[in-house]
Amino acid sequence: MAKKEFKAESKRLLEMMINSIYTQREIFLRELISNASDAIDKIYYKTLSDEGLVFNKEDYFIKVTADKASRTLTIADTGIGMSQEDLENNLGVIAKSGSLAFKEENEAKDGHNIIGQFGVGFYSAFMVADDVTVISRALGSDVAYKWESKGADGYTIEPAEKDTVGTEIILTIKANTEEDNYDEFLEEYRLKSIIKKYSDFIRFPIKMNVTKS
Ligand code: ADP
Ligand code: MG
Repeated sequence: MAKKEFKAESKRLLEMMINSIYTQREIFLRELISNASDAIDKIYYKTLSDEGLVFNKEDYFIKVTADKASRTLTIADTGIGMSQEDLENNLGVIAKSGSLAFKEENEAKDGHNIIGQFGVGFYSAFMVADDVTVISRALGSDVAYKWESKGADGYTIEPAEKDTVGTEIILTIKANTEEDNYDEFLEEYRLKSIIKKYSDFIRFPIKMNVTKS
C-alpha cells in the first residue's frame, strides 16, 4: 500500500517528538499504557451493554515485552482494538487539536516539562523508537491490520495476522548515541520503575517479559 502523509498538525508534533528535545522520554510508556487501559475500558463498557459478550476479568491485561536481540519493545493489550478506519483516523491525526498550540505556547516559558504534564499520546513513542508498528484487530472483526511508520514522512496500513482482538504496539528502540541512552528502555528494572512511577493506578494487570540476550 502507498505511503500516506500525516495531517499537517500531526506532522509538526511528530517532528517535535522525533527530535525529542525533552528530557522525560520515559513518559512514552505511560502514554502507551494509558491507551491500552482506555482500550480495555472500552471493551468492558461494550460488554455491559451487549448481553452476548461476557467480561472475564482475567482475559483483560496489558503486556510489556522487551526483546534485546531485535531491540523491540511491545505493548500489547486485549482491549477493543482498531479497524482499518480507526488506524487511519486515530493514528494519522491528533485527536485534541487545541493541545499542540497550547504546548508550543507553554514550551517557550518552560523548556522541558510540558510533555511530562500533558498527555501527548501515541506519538510520544517516536521519542524512543525509530519504527512504530501497530497490529490491531477490532472487536467483532476477524481480520487485522498493520499500521507502520518510521516518522514524519508518513505511514502505511496493510492487512496483517492476529489471532485475538486487541492491539500490539511494537517499538524498534533507537540505537544509543554519545549523548543518549536508549538501551535502558529494554531493561527490565528500568521498565518496571517507569511503570511504577507513572502507571501504578492502572486498573488492569501489567505483565512483563524481558528476553535477556
Ligand atoms: P488520546 O489517548 O488522548 O485520545 P492518543 O494519541 O494517545 O490520544 O491516542 C489516539 C487514539 O488512538 C486514541 O484516542 C484511540 O482511539 C486510539 N488508540 C491508541 N492506542 C490504542 C490502543 N492500544 N487500542 C485502541 N485504540 C488505541
Ligand atoms: Mg492517549
